Amino acid sequence: MKAIALFSGGLDSTLAMKLIIDQGIEVIACNINTGFGSTKDRLAHMQNMCAQVGAEFRSVDIRDEYLREVLFTPKHGYGKHFNPCIDCHAKMFEVAKRLMGEWGASFLISGEVLGQRPMSQNKEALAIVLNQSNCEGLLLRPMSAKALEPTIPELEGWIDREKLEGIVGRNRDRQMELAETFGLKDYESPGGGCLLTDEHFARKIRDFISHDTFSVEDIPTLKYGRQLRLPEGAKLIVGRHAEDNAVLEGIDNPKYLHVTTDLIGPHALISKTASANDRELAAKLMLAYCKAGFEGEQTLRFGDEVLTAVSTLTRNDAQKYMI
Ligand code: SF4
Repeated sequence: MKAIALFSGGLDSTLAMKLIIDQGIEVIACNINTGFGSTKDRLAHMQNMCAQVGAEFRSVDIRDEYLREVLFTPKHGYGKHFNPCIDCHAKMFEVAKRLMGEWGASFLISGEVLGQRPMSQNKEALAIVLNQSNCEGLLLRPMSAKALEPTIPELEGWIDREKLEGIVGRNRDRQMELAETFGLKDYESPGGGCLLTDEHFARKIRDFISHDTFSVEDIPTLKYGRQLRLPEGAKLIVGRHAEDNAVLEGIDNPKYLHVTTDLIGPHALISKTASANDRELAAKLMLAYCKAGFEGEQTLRFGDEVLTAVSTLTRNDAQKYMI
């Protein structure tokens, strides 16, 4: 028998999988990519955690569906920032349920702990998620199972409920104890988790949608570089370091032109629709971020167009355009 686990790479979902695997069930760890995971690469970490408990790791890309159906129209609203957690969870379960037939799984599991996160993991929120995703009875939460109604796998005897946990609340002692018992190593997740819970990232999305229509290919343009909104509406994205520059260079988005110079400095993107004034300002701002030591008129390329500018602005001047 197989189960699909909603897997985030965190300790709770790893422990939840282990509790089920120990009952002789094959577990496929399904990581759902909404597009808004942290920029740090968590893939190696997730694969490592799965290897430690003996689960198979698979990643599923739902970015397009997530933008169309969840991010901008959550039925249950947002958390503190741009995080539509209840609808997001429901979507993830809906996707996992859809995969059950294809992957040969009989039920779903998740690492959610009742009462751990005030908004998305209270009893009422969990009930909404089940209802909205049509997963009622099929979703087992091994970490809090004894504090919840029995699910199909427990009622059918596929799983021994007595061997599951009944954790409720924010205290992590029991999780630490289980991690120790199972000999788990390196379970601290790298990176900052979901960007939608980040105040600054939320501001960048709000700014974006007040000027443009958001699509999947716009996601990386919000994750990398300094983000500036120029007076006549253009967006300017300036790399902060080599990693940003490398990502920005690789972006092929019809909404943007690449801005480059022969000086030592960042790679940038600017809205293709930028006005002449915004382009002129962008050229000067770009020079402000180049390594000092040049004088006079400089040549910059905005896509195929060549522009010249003299450096008259500083990085301080750029601050007022920062999103
Ligand atoms: S934190 Fe992010 S990924 Fe997690 S449920 Fe909320 S919106 Fe979804």
